Amino acid sequence: MGFINLFTYEIIAQETPFIRRNCNKCKTNTEFYCSEKFRMNANQKIVDIWLIYNCIHCEGTWNYPILSRVNINKMDSKVIRKFMNNDKETVWYYAFQINKLRKRCNGVNTDIRFELRKEKLAILSNEITIKLCYKYDFGLRTDKLLAEIFGISRSKLKKLYQNGTILLNPNINIKSKVIDNLQITVIGDGTKLML
Ligand SMILES: [Zn+2]
Repeated sequence: MGFINLFTYEIIAQETPFIRRNCNKCKTNTEFYCSEKFRMNANQKIVDIWLIYNCIHCEGTWNYPILSRVNINKMDSKVIRKFMNNDKETVWYYAFQINKLRKRCNGVNTDIRFELRKEKLAILSNEITIKLCYKYDFGLRTDKLLAEIFGISRSKLKKLYQNGTILLNPNINIKSKVIDNLQITVIGDGTKLML
């Protein structure tokens, strides 16, 4: 009788996605980075909030609309403070609205740097379970991530998945996007990958 090994892998984004759009100054389709700063405009009680992006070449700005014409009395003062202080969690929440950003830009570059924080939780049979924690979704593919975690090629990974050595819960396609709390179980000889 062996042991169950439970690991968590937290996927930690190291930067916010760059966006692609036309720069008025450079007169070209180029990349913009998130300045991690909000811009607020208040006209009497009516507030507009944007997240500021800057062109990587000329620092020209593009403002991503966050709130438009909202009555400040209807806003939670804690939320207002977060916008005023450029609270990082709030900035990142909006900077990772990839589908919304795509509608306003020519593209969003989700090929960002990330780190994996591994934690071993328990040892108990002949299988390993990995749980993924994925706070900021940037469209990472499951097979790409698992190949990186196990240090094997995507084709080898596909074989292990097809022969039932690697199981996913929920049972999503291994080529689909990573979801938060996805669990990967590796059974039998496959556990050698991890140890
Ligand atoms: Zn520019």
